[in-house]
Amino acid sequence: MTEPSPDPLFGDFMDGDAARLQRVRILPDARPGALQLHLPDGESVIDWPLSDLRLIPDQADHSVCVLGLDGDHPARLIIADDALAARLRQLCPALTRRHRDPGIVKRLMILSAAAVSSVALIIFVLVPLMADQLANLLPSEGERALGEATFEQIRTSLGGGRLGIDLCSSPGGDRALQTIADRLKPYTDFPYDIRFHILDHKMVNAFALPGGHIVLFDGLLKDVQSPEELAGIIAHEMGHIEHRDPSRLTLRSAGSIGVLGLLLGDFAGGTVVLFLSERLIQANYSRGAEAAADRYAYEVLAGAGLPSSRMGDFFLRLMAGDEGDGGLSSHLSTHPENRARVDAAIAADVTGGNYTPVLTSAEWARLRGICK
Ligand SMILES: [Zn+2]
Repeated sequence: MTEPSPDPLFGDFMDGDAARLQRVRILPDARPGALQLHLPDGESVIDWPLSDLRLIPDQADHSVCVLGLDGDHPARLIIADDALAARLRQLCPALTRRHRDPGIVKRLMILSAAAVSSVALIIFVLVPLMADQLANLLPSEGERALGEATFEQIRTSLGGGRLGIDLCSSPGGDRALQTIADRLKPYTDFPYDIRFHILDHKMVNAFALPGGHIVLFDGLLKDVQSPEELAGIIAHEMGHIEHRDPSRLTLRSAGSIGVLGLLLGDFAGGTVVLFLSERLIQANYSRGAEAAADRYAYEVLAGAGLPSSRMGDFFLRLMAGDEGDGGLSSHLSTHPENRARVDAAIAADVTGGNYTPVLTSAEWARLRGICK
């Protein structure tokens, strides 16, 4: 039996001079006492002495292993292969020896003084990996501020002008929305009050932002046929909020700059700004996240004694293509499998048609007329 030739091993390498990752072939056995890295140009070879290899600590994502050299050398090697990472742990006695254990403030000071490439590694590679964890760790005030900052950006970008799109508000309309939220809230479990924003825009859409913000478009208020239908849509958005879907989406979309801003405590400042609007408006969550938000909505509606079959009315109209003319694809209309959702909404209805309406007809009229 011949020894099978081992599979080639690869990692991502940043040389410390340029802010880019290169796919390198890793040869652990080519030279005794060294890890040999073959660069993609086919010629350059770098030897890293095993005794100088260090694991870069404080990684958010434990599915990858980031290696550097002892001292302040800025080069980094990222290894996603568990077997190789385990092997390196064996080969390198000093791998986990920490040369520093900085707190977050100190780390940022080091960061600002470090070589450009080290900063780039953190920004382009490590920080995005932290977005999901961060979404779960954000304090509720942080989520709230993040939601406010992103809302302002969305409003500005939808308006196309300097001032942004108009917000609608009226005492009667605002009170009616609060009445719907108050009816649903006892059956939810998130730590903040819902804050509604009505945008004077004809898109038939609604979406949630981090920290309990729900954005409704005037086009949706004009399209829905009953306050219970609207309550169903609000309950669905509450599901996204409780599951922290908007926070994850925002942090992923904001990318490194946004996440760094959060690490710096800059929840509402200028750093959390990039490329957010369209992605958040469309709110393309996974099918699983949408189904979970639907189930959540049905439970909340059942708790509140409201008919989930009214939500089915909305899905039916979406299927019929009656989606308005918003010009932007909307979160609600891009939901998959509307037919199945109609059936599920009807099946989940526990009221048997007997329920106390969520709004009086006068309240409903005031709400629908909230944008003049
Ligand atoms: Zn949804």
